[in-house]
Amino acid sequence: MKVDNPEHPKPADANARLAVTPVVCYPADSLVPPPLVQYRQLRQSASKSLEVTAAPRDACCFEVKAGSFFRITCVEGSQVGDLNLWNLHDPGERFYSGKTRALHGTHLSTGDRMWSGFPAMRPMATITEDTLDWYGFDEYGGSVHDVIGTRCDPYTHHLLSGGDHYHYCCHSNLTRAFSAHRGTSPAEAESYVHDVLNVFMCTGFSRESGQYFMKASPVRPGDYIEFFADIDLLGGLSACPGGDCSEIHSSDKANCYPLLVEVFETPAAALADCLGDWNPATANGYDRSHGAT
Ligand SMILES: [Zn+2]
Repeated sequence: MKVDNPEHPKPADANARLAVTPVVCYPADSLVPPPLVQYRQLRQSASKSLEVTAAPRDACCFEVKAGSFFRITCVEGSQVGDLNLWNLHDPGERFYSGKTRALHGTHLSTGDRMWSGFPAMRPMATITEDTLDWYGFDEYGGSVHDVIGTRCDPYTHHLLSGGDHYHYCCHSNLTRAFSAHRGTSPAEAESYVHDVLNVFMCTGFSRESGQYFMKASPVRPGDYIEFFADIDLLGGLSACPGGDCSEIHSSDKANCYPLLVEVFETPAAALADCLGDWNPATANGYDRSHGAT
């Protein structure tokens, strides 16, 4: 955080330096936009192949074939979810929230992609529907579906609570779900858990202090966000112990509700009809020589 009382005086040209107009770091104009019209046409041919529920203060895993869709729905009460994505065949390739933020901004919506980390750095999933797109940004600078937070975790809670051990943070929920789904030890599973897309969570940065804030999620039963899978995916979704994240997280105090995950599989013929000669997203083309001789 910035200090309240700076110890160093402003230079003579401070105002000129402060007035410099910012430029966008990573203009994404050169990215090929996702073919949303064709994706939505394809979605008409998709049929439900899986339904799983993330129970309150717990997580579930689900697999999605490339070219299919998955939907996360608020079903019983206002509830936020923490979403992890892995390459189904290589969980070392996982969602990279920081780069996704750099490309698409602090909060995602329809047409944005969830990118994987280096070196693959490719689209893992593309948002095709978002019933909360009406929210935009509120007067506090808050919005939904952020990639600015991390995931609630027992380590930070241990630090800030003065030594408490809480086991149902999203980090731990995702660890247990990954471990059960892949048959790995919790310790190995934990190494694959990563920063999330905060589904339905309403967050921003305080204009005064720059601190990460949350406020009651505007999500209501029936709201959903839907994704097209750009590669074969393993997903993990935690129903955050914070519930609607209006007051508190990392405890059993908030009202907490389940989240529904549905997978909709597309027939190969429909995929060809709608997307032509389509293939899953390929890994990034950088040659990886890094200038080394
Ligand atoms: Zn959480």
